Amino acid sequence: MREEIKNLLELQRVDLELDRIERRKDEIPEEIRVLQKQLEDEENKFESFLEELMDLEKKLKYLNLDLEENEERIRKYMNQLTTLKSNEEYRAMMNQIQLEKDRKAQLEDQIIELMEKIENYKQKRKFLEDDLKTKRNEIRKRIAELEEELIRIDDNILVKRDERKRRAHNVPEKLLKQYEKLRQLRGGEVVVPIENGTCGGCHAELPIQVQVELKTTGKLIRCEHCGRLIFSLNSE
Ligand SMILES: [Zn+2]
Repeated sequence: MREEIKNLLELQRVDLELDRIERRKDEIPEEIRVLQKQLEDEENKFESFLEELMDLEKKLKYLNLDLEENEERIRKYMNQLTTLKSNEEYRAMMNQIQLEKDRKAQLEDQIIELMEKIENYKQKRKFLEDDLKTKRNEIRKRIAELEEELIRIDDNILVKRDERKRRAHNVPEKLLKQYEKLRQLRGGEVVVPIENGTCGGCHAELPIQVQVELKTTGKLIRCEHCGRLIFSLNSE
């Protein structure tokens, strides 16, 4: 293989590495954003759970106040019983007291039910808190890793660009221009080997005389279909 093709292939190798590194560089910020969103969602979920628990506790407080007032009324009515003159008034008061006692039983059932619910929430809170802590640590660790990768990539890009400059010097100017134009147009691999009589880029069958020419001259030949530069690995 001609020296200039070898040098061009070396340049292409560096360019393809740079492509890969730069693609990765573009992906990382999005990956970080996704992780940050994920963490935010987890924090919000736990926050909502805590709010629910607070609402339940507030509700319990109000029920207890209701119960106190209810008990106060029962005491008051019981005291009033002794002051009543007529049987009618007495019966009416007894009815009133019974209503308050029914209400008391209801309130007590609600309070017990609510206390059990709050107890369950508190047990769940411990579990959710630990879970959130684990997730938070994992996500933050992953973000830190990605940020480090980004720094490494920036360093690597500088090194590769430097290498690219050196490699480009080894390629004849005309060929370099042709190669760079092709890369701008197509991107990716633009210098490809002949593969079983086809273009290594688009896999179109090459005319026999082109196949022979590639093998005998060791030159680069442009693919008629895709415009890539084709070379033969075992040219003379
Ligand atoms: Zn082709």
